[in-house]
Amino acid sequence: MVRKVVADVRQWWATTLPQSPEATAALRRRWDALPASMRVPQQALGRLTVGCEGTHSVFPRCNLTCSPCYHSSDANKVRTDGAHTLLQVAKQMAYAIAERGPRAHAQLIGGEVSLLDPDDHAEVLLAMRAHGREPMSFSHGDFTSDYLERLAVGPDGKPRFKRLSFAIHIDSLMRGRSSHPRPRSEGELHAVRHEVVSRFRALREQHGVRSFLAHNMTVTPTNLQEVSEVARVVATAGYGLVSFQPAALVGDKRRWSPDMRGIDPDDIWRRIEKGVGSPLPYGDVVVGHPACNRSAFGWMVGERWVPVVAPGDARDVRARDTCYAALSGVRVGDTPWHVLAVRLSRVAIRRPQVLPQAVGWSARAIRRSGGVGAVIRHRPRPLTVVMHMFMDADLAGRAWEHLTSGASPTTDPELATAVERLEACAYSMPHPELGRMVPACVQHAALDPVVNAELRRQLPLIPVYSDVTEPSDA
Ligand code: SF4
Repeated sequence: MVRKVVADVRQWWATTLPQSPEATAALRRRWDALPASMRVPQQALGRLTVGCEGTHSVFPRCNLTCSPCYHSSDANKVRTDGAHTLLQVAKQMAYAIAERGPRAHAQLIGGEVSLLDPDDHAEVLLAMRAHGREPMSFSHGDFTSDYLERLAVGPDGKPRFKRLSFAIHIDSLMRGRSSHPRPRSEGELHAVRHEVVSRFRALREQHGVRSFLAHNMTVTPTNLQEVSEVARVVATAGYGLVSFQPAALVGDKRRWSPDMRGIDPDDIWRRIEKGVGSPLPYGDVVVGHPACNRSAFGWMVGERWVPVVAPGDARDVRARDTCYAALSGVRVGDTPWHVLAVRLSRVAIRRPQVLPQAVGWSARAIRRSGGVGAVIRHRPRPLTVVMHMFMDADLAGRAWEHLTSGASPTTDPELATAVERLEACAYSMPHPELGRMVPACVQHAALDPVVNAELRRQLPLIPVYSDVTEPSDA
């Protein structure tokens, strides 16, 4: 009896440990590997996060066509195969643990994830969770409620997940969506944007499965004028993250057009701000390289966006620094509240200065949300606004070659910045066979064409039998 109590207390103590040594070590490695110019007080990489991971070389096929499309021209000649996906994802995630530590966010990404059978899709998500990854399925969203239900609920009628995360890419550059095969404007797709959120809300009402949804949109000169309108709609539609990606010349060359590039990122950001109805400060918390990512962290109070760190407020900056130091490596997501409460209490005991900072920041946050009344009335909802600027294939390929060849620092400023971006990459893919994480833009620029040509042989759309035996009459 006494032994059991001691074992239980030990187990509880271990479960509520704020930081695991492996997570702390992985963050330290990430920080140390950053270029010196990126080790700045604002940098969250290596402090709060090891960066986002993504799967690759698993299901490159898609049933929509986008311009641009980041996949190679062979992608649609590869069969989507559940067993292959499960095997490869498990291998990739095992490597990710060794490289990036026990916990991370990872996108289940390739071609279109909903082409996987829902049972296979669910199994892969469970495998990612078993590897300590918080998985997010990346989809065009053109799947039915029935598919979503079969993914979320097992054949026994029980939910397989407490929570599902999806990144849904919707824009007018995509062709073949069942409800809008050839959209002529972003405006035509607003109903789809709302409908996706409704589908996940219904899942929660019917089966208790919560969700986190991100909305993605590629920006080219064709739809630039509509960025504000899309930002306005998605900010209040129920998405927790909205991401805009200026088009890059990467992937299938047949889908490039000469005028796709050249949009000033500041112009896009201003349009997003206009749509959200607020300045979106992104300088006080950075994730990776500023030429790759802008992230504005905040929440919506009714129709108003409120920043986590108020620009120009030194007290918020101090609270950020305290948060970086105290919460580094602390597992927060998907943790039962009673475990989280004890973990945070142990953080506060170890670093008592956290408490006054937390109280002060909370008071300011409530004030800028419009006061206690507004908070109670509107129930603030987290909303992160992101712009991810992929590199063109040519530049990413040259920078990767330079980085991996061990060449001495380049004097070409464009190449030097590109190398720095790769070193500070916040979105990379695990490659056990290469023994390294590979930035997603390099994956699409240099590795996908080779891998997809091989996958096309391994997983042909129509099975090829090399050893056909004639039926015998006997
Ligand atoms: S994938 Fe490329 S563009 Fe994106 S963060 Fe990494 S290096 Fe930057």
